[in-house]
Amino acid sequence: MTNKNQTTKDKNHKTKKRRKGRLLLFAATLFLVLLVTVIAFRLFGSVDMVSSDISSPASTDPTDTTVSQTTQSKSTTSQTTIQKSETTTSTKTPGKHYIQPAGADWNLKLVNKWNPLDKNYKQPLVTYLGDNKFDSRAIDKLKALVNAGKAYNIRVASLYRTHELQTSLFERQVKREMAKGHSRSKAEELAATEVARPGTSEHNLGLAADFLFERYSSLETAYEKTEAYSWMLEHCADYGFILRFPKNKQSITGVIFEPWHYRYVGEQAAKEIMSRGITLEEYLQEKGK
Ligand SMILES: [Zn+2]
Repeated sequence: MTNKNQTTKDKNHKTKKRRKGRLLLFAATLFLVLLVTVIAFRLFGSVDMVSSDISSPASTDPTDTTVSQTTQSKSTTSQTTIQKSETTTSTKTPGKHYIQPAGADWNLKLVNKWNPLDKNYKQPLVTYLGDNKFDSRAIDKLKALVNAGKAYNIRVASLYRTHELQTSLFERQVKREMAKGHSRSKAEELAATEVARPGTSEHNLGLAADFLFERYSSLETAYEKTEAYSWMLEHCADYGFILRFPKNKQSITGVIFEPWHYRYVGEQAAKEIMSRGITLEEYLQEKGK
């Protein structure tokens, strides 16, 4: 029994060894198969991978380049803008005023003391609210503004004025000053601080509008305390209008603070002017328009 048992044990041991060997062989084969598969995959699959590697950097790189180029060009643009505005500021001699080059867009036409309107300037006019007239190209925007402003009792007071009317308004003021004992030239100078000289008022252009606010029945600086004025500041640009003569800009515009006077310049310019709190003169000078 003992011997027999020993033989059986040996046999079992040998069988176990064989099994171990088979397992090892199986494992090695499996490993080899896996290895071959991986190599094969890398070899054949690599074609796609390379192409995708090529295509992916190729598709990423241009994007990156575009992005960086865009960023660069953007920063270059803003730098240019900064430099431009710095140059503009630094080259701006005190007492000198922007003179608009000929051929300005109708909605950006500058009319002030230093840029008088040609007496023969012809704009398309349309009648609105009785005898009032306004540039027909901007009348719909004015109507929309007036309509929206109804909630604040914003009403039209004065729109287009003929050159003749401006002349008579100016003359009346000159006579008032002369009655005080001033010479003609002194009286004209003084009158010009109250009434624009003929051709220098935006009302001659047909794109300016004076408004009455809330309970007021005349044009008052006190408007600035009204809700209507706050609403106008916030919304006039939505209709392409700007507050034309803001506070503390008299040296640039030549006109005192007028919370009632608005000018149509178009939505794009109006939004930039109002959001930056600049004047039409500054905007045009910056753009070289
Ligand atoms: Zn006005």
